[in-house]
Amino acid sequence: MDFRQIIGHEKAIETLKRQIEKGSISHSYIFEGEDGLGKRKVALAFAKTLLCKNQGIEPCNQCTSCMKFESLNHPDFFLIEPENGLIKKGEVENLIKNVATAPFESTRKVFIIDNAHMMNTEGMNAILKTLEEPPEYINIILITSSTNKILPTILSRCQNIKFYPVEAKKITDLLVNSYGKLKTEAEFLAEFTKGSVGKSIELATSDDFFAKREEIINLIDILLKGDKTKAISSIGFFNDNKETIDEILDIFLFWFRDLMLYKKLGNNPLIINKDKIEYISKHSYIKSDKINDIIEKVQQTKEYIKGNANFQLSIETMLLNMQEEL
Ligand SMILES: [Zn+2]
Repeated sequence: MDFRQIIGHEKAIETLKRQIEKGSISHSYIFEGEDGLGKRKVALAFAKTLLCKNQGIEPCNQCTSCMKFESLNHPDFFLIEPENGLIKKGEVENLIKNVATAPFESTRKVFIIDNAHMMNTEGMNAILKTLEEPPEYINIILITSSTNKILPTILSRCQNIKFYPVEAKKITDLLVNSYGKLKTEAEFLAEFTKGSVGKSIELATSDDFFAKREEIINLIDILLKGDKTKAISSIGFFNDNKETIDEILDIFLFWFRDLMLYKKLGNNPLIINKDKIEYISKHSYIKSDKINDIIEKVQQTKEYIKGNANFQLSIETMLLNMQEEL
């Protein structure tokens, strides 16, 4: 892991490098931003640099420290992450024990706590003591997508580094050059994942994401034709994809959003389903009010399902509502 392998986040990386250069490195950081942007990758590259024996602004990738870091075998590096949605009490206790002893090999000890908001209050309070009086050799990096779930007393002790969505062009280039995607597919993914490199790669390498998208586009056709029996029989598709329902409903949302954009502006660069433009134009007879209603209903359904409403009922209602609008 190296800063050069990271896509985007130039500003965050620049800030960290400047601090290394000036010797003004903080004892504790919060890396904050949506999931899948690359926060953990930046944290790892930063940790590796801090531990590197050559003490530059990039890891040298040659010293014993860099080698050990790469094989996840560095005695002064600790990565703490949740298991089943929770950072265990034992993990936090271990961390506190390790903070108290001097480094073995480097001049520092670096701790990364990924998904730090998944610590319970007891864990956070324990960490807080360390953050209040950190030994000289300690650097702690908390990574999170939800600072609102972290104690304000912790936040105020940490330097906040914000992570933003990565430019679509950079993700597109990566998916085309390193993952062999077609340009139209890569562009779709960069927009669909809202600038998340991790999520884009996950979908680009998934066996069936684009097949599912085709299925949904066909289903939209059926729905818009008002075939109620076929609409209800499609519930099986949703049940099969329960685990990724948010993604499935996002495909719906983007498609109708594109339809709306097409109605207003014709074929234009804001449209995400560029490879389906003929299909979209075919449906442009649908009235704007109705498209807006459908978008609203899909969004509501996402919320209901997130709030643990009955899955089958929520989906069926959405499908029928979509039809009644027409
Ligand atoms: Zn090194």
